[in-house]
Amino acid sequence: MAQHFDYIAIGGGSGGIASANRAAMRGAKVALIEAKHMGGTCVNVGCVPKKVMWHGAQVAEAIKLYAPDYGFDVEVKDFDWGKLVESREAYIGRIHQGYNKYLASNGVTVINGFAKFIDNNTVEVNGEHYTADHICIAVGGRPSIPNIPGAELGIDSNDFFELKAQPKSVAVIGAGYIAVELAGVLHSLGTDTHLFVRKHAPLRNFDPILIDTLTEVMDKEGPTLHTHSTPESLSKNDDGSVTLHLENGESHTVEQVIWAIGREPVTDKINLAATDVAITDGGYVKVDEYQNTSVSGIYALGDIMEGGIELTPVAVKAGRMLAERLFNPEMPDAKMDYNLVPTVVFSHPPIGTIGLTEPEAVAQYGEDNIKVYTSTFAAMYTAVTQHRQPCKMKLVCAGEDEKIVGLHGIGFAVDEMIQGFGVAMKMGATKADFDSVVAIHPTGSEEFVTMR
Ligand code: NDP
Repeated sequence: MAQHFDYIAIGGGSGGIASANRAAMRGAKVALIEAKHMGGTCVNVGCVPKKVMWHGAQVAEAIKLYAPDYGFDVEVKDFDWGKLVESREAYIGRIHQGYNKYLASNGVTVINGFAKFIDNNTVEVNGEHYTADHICIAVGGRPSIPNIPGAELGIDSNDFFELKAQPKSVAVIGAGYIAVELAGVLHSLGTDTHLFVRKHAPLRNFDPILIDTLTEVMDKEGPTLHTHSTPESLSKNDDGSVTLHLENGESHTVEQVIWAIGREPVTDKINLAATDVAITDGGYVKVDEYQNTSVSGIYALGDIMEGGIELTPVAVKAGRMLAERLFNPEMPDAKMDYNLVPTVVFSHPPIGTIGLTEPEAVAQYGEDNIKVYTSTFAAMYTAVTQHRQPCKMKLVCAGEDEKIVGLHGIGFAVDEMIQGFGVAMKMGATKADFDSVVAIHPTGSEEFVTMR
């Protein structure tokens, strides 16, 4: 006899948890199925542990690069990677407890185990059957590994968070968020780090001002960037090191190779074949703007949905909107707005970006209808030291009223600057609106409201 719920979320990651809690808060009888730890990629092998490592890297930079000119005569005797990992994992443990407490307080039934579909209404976990009026697939993704000889000699971002000791040398392969973030963290913590990208630059779809500044800083401060470097194979050496062989004939030997070439959905594990849910060739679930799949009563959100934005807060928002639509009579049309999603890359220095890049805006509105404002300065925190670091910002404006359609920044503390500008852009802010705000001085963010 199957146990019946109003709503089942498969996957205790950001989207699944958010939707389960919201559905329960709206009075639904809810189950959340998770095979491992609560929190999914973000909490366990993504945003959270990465940000802790990034903060660790910032501490290292503060001591090494900036402390002397602020008058501190600091001698670093040791850096204990294990201690940083221990602090990080203890913090994550506290997040797990918080999640479990909140789910319990909302009355969500947590089922520990791996869910597989039996049919369009039923899933099986550990031999038990569960049915629901509404089932949400929120099982997320996993790192991709290329199909080249020796690929298994490299580790992925999940394995990175398992490292108990700091590698002396690393080759990070990939050109997206993860590659840039891991390379920056490892370099700042003292690993000899090399970043290999296939094309001319990492993050090549970001606004050119961001790419140019990031590569400029990498050239000056590291990690070592290798462009036009496509991996061909990996081979193991007698001393345990790994050699990366590139298509251009070059090779590089390091202690550890890290693949960061993108992620893929894990829909292959949940027996979707037992349902009528349509998926793409790559395994992404096809959804409409309301997260509906091709089967009535089955939904999908987060990293497994086709054409989505692979960001935790996007999955959280989509999950909450879905729960509101299903269980809150006052919000029958609730849906996620995928437009103008702010995002930050925790690179060195950090990048913040909202909306269209300049090339995208030109393509969409025509060159004559676009006006671009930029600002370049040395971040004050670094400007008083010998390690001056650039901070660059750009506003992309469209039409006669100069509506802000793109906002981009790279530099010290940009990661904490852009959230509020996201609100302004969602409200349709123009350049004149930005200019009407009194600047906060002296800060970096004041540049966004004083550009000429
Ligand atoms: P991305 O898809 O962002 O980037 C991977 C890049 O690696 C590709 O764009 C491609 O760039 C390059 N690549 C692909 N295949 C190969 C290959 N075989 N060999 C060498 N390079 C290759 O993936 P990530 O894994 O970095 O991140 C996944 C997602 O997770 C991101 O899109 C982001 O949304 C999210 N994320 C967000 C973070 C944040 O908010 N701060 C942090 C981390 C992840 P090219 O074509 O230029 O070679």
